[in-house]
Amino acid sequence: MNDIVSKQRAFFYTHKTKAIQFRLAQLNKVETLLKSNEDLLYQAIYEDFKKSKFDTYVTELALLYQDIKEAKRNIHKWSRTKRVGTNMLNFPARSYIIPEPLGVCLVIGAWNYPYQLTLAPVIAAIAAGNTVIIKPSEMAPKTSALMANLINENFDSAFLKVVEGGVSETTTLLKSKFDKIFFTGSPQVGKIIYQAAAKNLTPVTLELGGKSPAIIAEDSNLKMTVKRLVWAKFLNAGQTCIAPDYVLVHKSIEKKTLELLKLEIEKESFSIENGNYTQIINERNLNRISNMFSSENVFVGGEINTLNRTIEPTVLQNIRFSDDIMKEEIFGPVLPVISYQNIEEVIQYVNSNPTPLACYVFTNNNQVKKKILNEISFGGGAVNDAIMHISNSNLPFGGVGNSGIGSYHGEAGFKSFSHYKSILEKSNLMELSLKYYPHSKRKLSWVQRFMGF
Ligand code: NAD
Repeated sequence: MNDIVSKQRAFFYTHKTKAIQFRLAQLNKVETLLKSNEDLLYQAIYEDFKKSKFDTYVTELALLYQDIKEAKRNIHKWSRTKRVGTNMLNFPARSYIIPEPLGVCLVIGAWNYPYQLTLAPVIAAIAAGNTVIIKPSEMAPKTSALMANLINENFDSAFLKVVEGGVSETTTLLKSKFDKIFFTGSPQVGKIIYQAAAKNLTPVTLELGGKSPAIIAEDSNLKMTVKRLVWAKFLNAGQTCIAPDYVLVHKSIEKKTLELLKLEIEKESFSIENGNYTQIINERNLNRISNMFSSENVFVGGEINTLNRTIEPTVLQNIRFSDDIMKEEIFGPVLPVISYQNIEEVIQYVNSNPTPLACYVFTNNNQVKKKILNEISFGGGAVNDAIMHISNSNLPFGGVGNSGIGSYHGEAGFKSFSHYKSILEKSNLMELSLKYYPHSKRKLSWVQRFMGF
């Protein structure tokens, strides 16, 4: 591992990655590689957890193509040196900021959207002029092996290299010194990564998870709300970091909401056989999710198929905040519904728990919307929708507190792999003598005048 890092660092110091033409060529190469191997990409992910071609295109490849397109279109603008004003005290001079790549980066991916979560940070890192070592998740072995084959056969390892493996390989990797670590995964492992990075003062982006609430106010457009929520929750069988983890619904519409959830779930006909559903990634997770709820709370679904590794889209009723299912991120197709009497209760509950990655509010009431957006802290989210904020690359994507540090997508991704070097360029034409010794009262009053205080 040390050899790869050294090779990449040596390559980085040839400064070739800094040339915009080089970065554009590499982005084009990634795009061509993905486009010409789409069939293999669909096949590998289907073998890992039966994810369909449609879902893979919409939630993985399309987002990657969008990121590449965006980066190519804006790369000159993002990497340009930016002039800023100069204060009087430094007169005569110019001031500017030079975006520069950080160097050798490590990207550690998660399995649930294996292509998107692993390669989107890589696209941002390339656009910003870095070299990258990529560690996909071992929990989706076919997609990990395919990414390793495609990248390692087509790129010089001094620039891009996939290293496969699990805990032990990642632990070894983390012993090397990187210039940036970009991690996607659980808050628990995020802490391990942060500690390892701290040894070398390596900057990190941590894209973590958490329990993201969906809040349904009594005035919401309930039919539309439920339609959007059902799609967002059961997409990828609930294995989405920004899936609505649980629903908080106003008591007056709880019954109606449950009925509509049932109808919508039936309508969407989720099944592996018809390509409209996804498996749980492995047996361990199937057991973990199955043990989170008991049949007495099941309003819809609840059937667990160990052979097929699926859990039916499930809605739970009569859930209390103190129940086990409310203690950790579900990360599966189970939706607890809890009713509330007033919005203060909701705010108090969410704020007394670890900061969520996402929060969704369904309301037509401006005051309720503003109150939620103002009084609850969370990574990002949507009003009257769920999950879709990730598809707008103008919105930086990331968590806060327990759900992460930093953000990416669009320019935010470029920024997370860049350092902004500030330069004051002084003219040699003249020099004010104010700062030089010996000092005097008169000089001090001139300094104060210059500084405008
Ligand atoms: P995970 O934390 O178990 O694994 C993520 C990565 O860390 C994998 O590549 C894995 O090999 C590595 N890893 C695991 N244990 C390690 C250890 N002890 N030391 C070093 N590396 C280790 O997470 P997961 O199961 O792949 O994903 C589920 C979690 O990720 C959920 O909490 C979910 O919300 C979160 N997630 C967040 C985002 C986001 O964009 N914020 C996206 C997807 C998933």
